[in-house]
Amino acid sequence: MQIMYRSTRSPELKVTASQAVLQGLAPDGGLFVPEKLPRYPQDWEVLSAQSYQETALQVMRLLLTDYTEEELRNCIDRAYDSKFDIPQITCLKETDGVWYLELFHGATIAFKDMALSILPHLMTTAAAKNGVTDEIVILTATSGDTGKAAMAGFADVPGTRIIVFYPKGGVSAVQERQMVTQRGANVHVVGINGNFDDAQSAVKRIFSDEQMKKQMAGAGKRFSSANSINIGRLVPQIVYYFYAYGQLVKDGKVKAGDVINITVPTGNFGNILAAYYAKQMGLPVRKLVCASNENKVLVDFFRTGAYDRNRSFILTSSPSMDILISSNLERLIYQIAGEDPQVTKKLMESLISSGVYCITDSMKDGLKDFYGNYATESETAEEIARVYNTFGYVIDTHTAVASRVCRKYQADTGDHTPMVTASTASPYKFARSVVCAIRPELQTKTDFELIDELYEISGTAVPKAIEDIRSAPILHRTVVDAADMSAEIIRWLGI
Ligand SMILES: *Cc1c(COP(=O)(O)O)cnc(C)c1O
Repeated sequence: MQIMYRSTRSPELKVTASQAVLQGLAPDGGLFVPEKLPRYPQDWEVLSAQSYQETALQVMRLLLTDYTEEELRNCIDRAYDSKFDIPQITCLKETDGVWYLELFHGATIAFKDMALSILPHLMTTAAAKNGVTDEIVILTATSGDTGKAAMAGFADVPGTRIIVFYPKGGVSAVQERQMVTQRGANVHVVGINGNFDDAQSAVKRIFSDEQMKKQMAGAGKRFSSANSINIGRLVPQIVYYFYAYGQLVKDGKVKAGDVINITVPTGNFGNILAAYYAKQMGLPVRKLVCASNENKVLVDFFRTGAYDRNRSFILTSSPSMDILISSNLERLIYQIAGEDPQVTKKLMESLISSGVYCITDSMKDGLKDFYGNYATESETAEEIARVYNTFGYVIDTHTAVASRVCRKYQADTGDHTPMVTASTASPYKFARSVVCAIRPELQTKTDFELIDELYEISGTAVPKAIEDIRSAPILHRTVVDAADMSAEIIRWLGI
């Protein structure tokens, strides 16, 4: 069955998977969604015997139907290889009835690697399939992790360039250093005076700017996106929820066909949307627990049906979740609006003009698969200490937000269904917050000293990604105002 992709904002647009990957954002400013979610064959014994790569092939074939099996296999083999520091690509760590799904074993030690190590291959394959010879310029706004993972994927890939905007002062020390030391002749990193929402909104405006599009086309270039607005990011993220389930069945932790719950530390709503898609494809999931930090716009939305971004933006110890406009929620809105692009478009326009939209009661019924809650800064730190003191296991700040919210869910509902909690970053990436949560007396140490302390505490090897930045020279120092982002793009591209 061929799956086509539609825009969330207009009824006419309809493209193939490879065209959706190439374009990133739909030309009307909407997001591409699969016309229909395919059914997964639900043979859990088969799933439990598969390698990560085999599951990836099986799941991605169902959704990216205009890629040939050989093309997909090729992309998968090039993505999921020794760049990951464990051969299984991802693994589960059990505490009491909660399995942390470690998604941070890739090159940049955050879960973004799971999708961004394959996206460049999906995109260059898509360009070849569609006879596109333009240079593809990846425009990326990052809350800290996407930028580095996207550059690691696209650096020196022929026919591509990548420009990353990150909030100056809004990312962790390790995150910033990872980005500003990035090598590659086709990469550009720019700090902006503003927050992630400013960067993401400007990037979306630039995508829809007709004048800019013409200027790009005249120079033989076109934009695409490495953010989770690109369906080429979302589809590879569905894979690991299936794989995790297969591993639980294999290890006898759940019986084939039994339900699980999933908790996801959420920012742009991409990772949890992938879990929701997995559920709709047939993965036995009861609840999707959406965990926020103090920027709890999604929690309020799940409670009231009103999405209201008019509030202060809080810088937290989980910076990759410091987001007030969760882009991928648009895909959920579209679905609960009965796939009505007119309704979706109105709500999104209201968000842009007033910062608020409200959904109807019947749309609210569509949210019953979700539970939303949040963890404060002190709860997050306490959770890191609790998990370490109880289980000897060190989790990062984002995972700790999820872990705490998972416990709130269990206490609120009494539902103790086996829980998979997405562990989205290595604790080494947020060493300061993690170490200080466990040993507050070490606050005065430098970031690199804290990394050595973390090694002592956790007993897990310092990842190569961290060793690499200890001595790497800083190659990028540009900082601009959010309003000057398009000028900076034009300057760097020389168009
Ligand atoms: C990006 C990120 C998140 C949030 O994921 P979304 O898909 O944007 O909701 C959570 N944790 C970490 C470590 C991240 O890098």
